[in-house]
Amino acid sequence: MIRLFVPDALGEGGLIRPTTEQAHYLLNVMRQSQGDVVLVFNGLDGEWRATLTEVTKRGCALRLDEVTRPQAAGPDLDLIVALVKRARLETIVEKAAELGARRVRLAVTRFTGADHTNVARLQAIATEASEQTGRLDVPEVVAPVKLDRLLDGWEAGRRLVFCDEAGDAKPIIQALRDEAPCAVLIGPEGGFAPEERERLRGLPFVVPVSLGPRILRADTAAISALTLVQAAIGDWR
Ligand code: SAH
Repeated sequence: MIRLFVPDALGEGGLIRPTTEQAHYLLNVMRQSQGDVVLVFNGLDGEWRATLTEVTKRGCALRLDEVTRPQAAGPDLDLIVALVKRARLETIVEKAAELGARRVRLAVTRFTGADHTNVARLQAIATEASEQTGRLDVPEVVAPVKLDRLLDGWEAGRRLVFCDEAGDAKPIIQALRDEAPCAVLIGPEGGFAPEERERLRGLPFVVPVSLGPRILRADTAAISALTLVQAAIGDWR
């Protein structure tokens, strides 16, 4: 079933006007027509069944019929990823959406190449992945912030699972015990700088973890870490 993320409030008998791109996708790509049914969600009001109406060559409207699933949120799990090359970063954002990350925060570290990226494009990828994967919300992709700034303003009560490639941290599965809100930190292709590792390891909310004896690329590390968190303390149990 086609699922669309819409910004509108969703309620009984409401009429949703999809964007031009969404209408194109529905009518021309998926060849939907008057009376066909899709699912819509907005991250707040649950998921609704909707029927195509007012179909013309250029557009259509969606009439809300009924709630199919009440709103629910996955675990309070952030992914913090250093800016890696575009293609790999896009893969990481898509997988983070499928794996249930609630936010994807982008970090600038000593060895990241760039200090900016196309956040709007990454947000669109997160939205598309959320539609496909059946989520009731879309992870927010947060614009790049220097790692030091992220740590300076750290939210009380959130644990930071620091994926440290240095090799002497304890296995991640041993570090994941209780379900406190947490964030997973993945470094850039060049790894973490010594002063970054030193600061991180000195912080009380940081839990350095190993992802095994081999050096993983950032996308492999992000997917592996999120998978283990979901399996050990998240919504895969
Ligand atoms: N250039 C570095 C590797 C960086 S890999 C080197 O060769 O040492 C990118 C990121 O993936 C790392 O910063 C870390 O966050 C994560 N990562 C990769 N392999 C890991 C491992 N075995 N244990 C923990 N984290 C790992």
